[in-house]
Amino acid sequence: MPLIPEIVAATEALTAIRRDFHAHPETAFEEVRTTARVAQLLEQWGIEVHRGLARTGLVGILRGTVGAGTRAIGLRADMDALPMTEHNRFAHASTAPGKMHACGHDGHTTMLLGAAQYLARHRDFDGTVYFIFQPAEENGNAGARAMIEDGLFERFPCDEIYGLHNMPGLPAGQLGFRAGPIMASGNRFDITLRGTGGHAAIPDRAIDPVVVAGSLIGALQTLVSRNTSPLDSAVLSVTQVHAGETYNVIPDEAILGGTVRTFRTDTLDRIESGLRRMVETLPQAYGAQGRLDFKRGYPPVVNHPAQTAFAADTAIETFGASQVDRDTPALGAAEDFAFYLQHVPGSYLFLGNGDGTHRASQAAEGPCQLHNGSYDFNDALLPIGATYWVRLAEAFFRHHPAHR
Ligand SMILES: [Zn+2]
Ligand SMILES: [Zn+2]
Repeated sequence: MPLIPEIVAATEALTAIRRDFHAHPETAFEEVRTTARVAQLLEQWGIEVHRGLARTGLVGILRGTVGAGTRAIGLRADMDALPMTEHNRFAHASTAPGKMHACGHDGHTTMLLGAAQYLARHRDFDGTVYFIFQPAEENGNAGARAMIEDGLFERFPCDEIYGLHNMPGLPAGQLGFRAGPIMASGNRFDITLRGTGGHAAIPDRAIDPVVVAGSLIGALQTLVSRNTSPLDSAVLSVTQVHAGETYNVIPDEAILGGTVRTFRTDTLDRIESGLRRMVETLPQAYGAQGRLDFKRGYPPVVNHPAQTAFAADTAIETFGASQVDRDTPALGAAEDFAFYLQHVPGSYLFLGNGDGTHRASQAAEGPCQLHNGSYDFNDALLPIGATYWVRLAEAFFRHHPAHR
């Protein structure tokens, strides 16, 4: 694989940095140690650092020395860990009880650092690279949105933005691209159905919310099967049903909860309004009342076609066509990179993390899957991801705006 030799030579150092992050995981908006380390390294390499966005986020600015170009590319890494227990016992396992880098953000951060180090030494490009290190991607904390609200794109005006996520199960180092939606929106809802409780043997004097719940659960299935195009896809799952406490009492209330996933915002709009319509009107047919509380999470990650084609072309030029899938399957999980793509064109890709055989001895026996206590980022990806970011930035300044 044609990696940049200077980056390959830095692999050992990058691995040490990555394992240090892994051993010291920090969760949403508490990435204090991580941010300090990132800032220290960037400054050591001569990159201008701006801290304090989204509390623990930071942006590194690197201006090229060729020409007076004003065009800019944003490269983003997430830095946060998960509130969960690591089962691995290798030397770089988590030292923070109940916290773990189980999503590989330690690797994302380190790959971007590797690219920053190289580009700082080779500033022969015409424009500006923004290295965007964001906190709080996990658990709906929306660090990306916090970065934007703190003026990310006003203070650091990127023409385009790119991000990636490691992907267990894809061959190590394989790059997966997809124009259009690549990850889903994640949303949750709570429904309260209010009837009139009473004696279970005298139902005619009660309004039974359990029966209303049964009817509503069935009806809600039509929001996907009858109201969503067969060429689109969506999920509506009722995952919680709570009502009643004993055998001979009709309860006053039934509570439902669940999730909606879609790959398009207009599909989400339609499902949410359909859900509201059903929850508010169907119970009335039974003399009951329904109330919906719908909470939108991250929007879908929708890759822009031109930027995705450019990113995939660059990957093929760099690594060869056999390493690149231009049509990788979309994933039903959600990711806050979606917010950036609502403001700036760009693309988000998957980088194969392999089958888990890379794990150091004393790894736990569970699968090397994201959010599993046995997961570990594959350090073989460090020079691959760093090389990719460098080549993408170089190509951005060289080729554009031909690709726009
Ligand atoms: Zn995650
Ligand atoms: Zn993640």
